[in-house]
Amino acid sequence: MSRIAYVNGQYLPHREAAVHFEDRGYQFSDGVYEVVAVRDGQLVDLEPHFERLEYSLGELGIDAPVSRKVLSMIFDEVIKRNRVTNGIIYLQITRGVAPRDHGFPKAARPAMVVSARNMPSKDHLRQSGVAVITVPDQRWKRRDIKTVSLLPNIMAKQQAVEAGAYEALQVDDDGTVTEGTATNAWIVTDKGELVTRKTDHSILSGITRLAAKALAASAQLKLVERPFTVEEAKSAREAFLTSTTSNVMPIIRIDDVEINGGEPGPITMRLGELYETHAAGV
Ligand code: PMP
Repeated sequence: MSRIAYVNGQYLPHREAAVHFEDRGYQFSDGVYEVVAVRDGQLVDLEPHFERLEYSLGELGIDAPVSRKVLSMIFDEVIKRNRVTNGIIYLQITRGVAPRDHGFPKAARPAMVVSARNMPSKDHLRQSGVAVITVPDQRWKRRDIKTVSLLPNIMAKQQAVEAGAYEALQVDDDGTVTEGTATNAWIVTDKGELVTRKTDHSILSGITRLAAKALAASAQLKLVERPFTVEEAKSAREAFLTSTTSNVMPIIRIDDVEINGGEPGPITMRLGELYETHAAGV
């Protein structure tokens, strides 16, 4: 079965699904994206993804090319045409095609691409937990915008891959953890409190983070939104990551330090179960 992508109004086989070389996404990373999980054919937490998309577009002054309603119809069609049951939708919107010039073009129409694919389950990793490394955060100061400009993220992730780790926790100049390269970071303190950084310009407001916050509240787990240092994370009772493709992912090692004796912690596992039920929509 050939895979199909939506490109500016057309559903095309991947080999024909191309964008122009003067697309500003290609030349300047002048665009945004979203990744939405597909679970049993259904989109998980679609509305908050739309909200974040509109926020990112708004911050960059790019007009939304279609309404939420039309976008969700396109998502359904791409899911159907690619027979995706468990996987992801990828959406990218750029400022469009224009002769290369740093200033925003007056006439460019935003360009939109949607693709979808099945993804292998990460259940085994959620059972075993994962190792992470720490790296300096080398990104710009507007990490709240979900831009396709991901060079520092992919370089840090590659460092993790080469170290045999699942993810890299990025660390700001003040020694506090910002987030992973594609995940938000959490710890559980000795008092059993969940800690994650508050959302401002320093991190992306993860949709999974939002859901986990609500689930933690419903389970009467205490949550504090504040920065934490690498040292605090290394001596934390538990640690975990959240994201659309990782869900709630236990961390069992940070650099050379084992967390919770190298086992996923009970509070992490409890939150993970709550999240699985939430994502399954039951
Ligand atoms: N932080 C960064 C830098 C990310 O790229 C992602 C994944 N898009 C996240 C956090 C987690 O966000 P979400 O839960 O919406 O996938």
